Amino acid sequence: MKLEAKEVTGAGRLFRHYVDGSFVDTATTFADVNPVDGTVVARVCEADEQTVDRAVRAARAAQRGEWERSTPAQRAAWLHRIADGIEARFDDFVEAEVADTGRPLVQARTLDVTRGIANFRTFANLIVSAGSECFETHAADGGEYMNYVMRKPLGVVGIISPWNLPLLLLTWKVAPALAMGNCVVAKPSEETPGSATLLAEVIHEAGLPRGVFNLIHGHGPNAAGEFLTRHPGISAITFTGESRTGSTIMKTVADGVKDVSFELGGKNAAVVFADADFDAAVEGVLKSSFTNAGQVCLCSERVYVERPIFERFVAALKARSEAIRVGAPGDPDATMGPLISRRHREKVLSYFRLAVEEGATVVTGGDVPLFGDARDDGAFVQPTIWTGLSDTARCVTEEIFGPVCHIAPFDGEDEVIGRVNDSAYGLAASVWTTHLARGHRVAKRIQTGIVWLNAWFVRDLRTPFGGTKLSGLGREGGRHSLDFYSELTNVCVRIA
Ligand code: NAD
Repeated sequence: MKLEAKEVTGAGRLFRHYVDGSFVDTATTFADVNPVDGTVVARVCEADEQTVDRAVRAARAAQRGEWERSTPAQRAAWLHRIADGIEARFDDFVEAEVADTGRPLVQARTLDVTRGIANFRTFANLIVSAGSECFETHAADGGEYMNYVMRKPLGVVGIISPWNLPLLLLTWKVAPALAMGNCVVAKPSEETPGSATLLAEVIHEAGLPRGVFNLIHGHGPNAAGEFLTRHPGISAITFTGESRTGSTIMKTVADGVKDVSFELGGKNAAVVFADADFDAAVEGVLKSSFTNAGQVCLCSERVYVERPIFERFVAALKARSEAIRVGAPGDPDATMGPLISRRHREKVLSYFRLAVEEGATVVTGGDVPLFGDARDDGAFVQPTIWTGLSDTARCVTEEIFGPVCHIAPFDGEDEVIGRVNDSAYGLAASVWTTHLARGHRVAKRIQTGIVWLNAWFVRDLRTPFGGTKLSGLGREGGRHSLDFYSELTNVCVRIA
């Protein structure tokens, strides 16, 4: 099968939309910039309203075609074929992810692309074994009835994803949406169009009926993202990104009473009790604060350490964070890459300045590393640790989304739970303790969608994922995804 997108890969390449089974371009383009050194990776087509409309119409038409009659086993086979396709082009996906984000190669290999494959396989396996409820009902009229629940696709799902884990977060939504028999119009972040375009190529090669999967590139407000959320042909929107954007999307879809699933921002806490395995807690918090340069929604930017071990913990985390090697993906020793863009770096640096104004002690970092080469044109910052801020400081309450944490001492279980919960967000928390009952007790009282005990970032894709408060709406993962991506119809049958 001819693969149009390949014609333009390599130097001077152009990332195009994938609409109704073909790669199409639009006149307006924007630059895809590598945050390691500011070079342009590719030009990207910006979808206009007409292109978004074509994509939604194509998806609606496909919904009424052979896709509607497909069986779960057939869709599972397609999902496995897509996973096979990603596996076959594993290195291309790694390269695309690294070019867009500048992250260490090892992360793109072991996390991003690997999870992209796992997302398709997980939902392929789940869909073939998904059942539904059935109740035997004895009514007042003496009749006997069976109530059973039928799962149907929603229709066309609009998917809008962010830049921080581009392939992982996009496929986390595409896979269950297709598994449930929906058609999709997906818009990846304008910062990371590369791996999404490769995914469209793989889906094309897998032979999915045309129109089932559509990809549009472009920006959010008053652009492709908003055109998609405003489109009356969309049945539901699933979105991962900033809480503020989620709120805007919610207003946009309110008139049409569209279903939404939101995975939003966080200001996550790590809580270290004095009885914790000290070294494991230091390593755990190091990971939870600095993985992916702090650009994971689950990262902990607030760290609470019980007073008897506070000074020792701060010193240990400082030493470990100063051993993080910041550098380009090609550097085999680099464990942290740049931020996604100079624009995002400006935001993070504004918090670095604000922390000082708010009275923070800068334990380490707080600045931009200087390399003396092309990386100085990139978007790097130093891993940064603060102490000494009040719980109401903006740096302790607002999501920064960079490699930074504030460490504060605490004096007891009730106190720390109150401080952890006193947040506008409620995505995740990690608790470090060897006291078994305390761990469960604290997990029960923390108001977040996810709690890790003596762990961080371990994900079983069958478990519910999502946040409370400003961190989101609904849960995805396992059967929770299948629930979101399906319309449930109850059928009541008189049997006697
Ligand atoms: P963002 O909200 O700026 O953008 C996300 C996506 O929304 C992009 O594709 C963007 O183009 C689009 N968009 C922006 N404005 C829009 C509008 N008005 N209408 C429609 N679409 C619009 O977020 P980001 O900066 O790309 O990502 C970082 C944020 O994502 C952080 O807040 C992070 O915590 C959050 N996040 C949450 C999770 C989670 O699972 N809870 C996971 C990853 C990232």
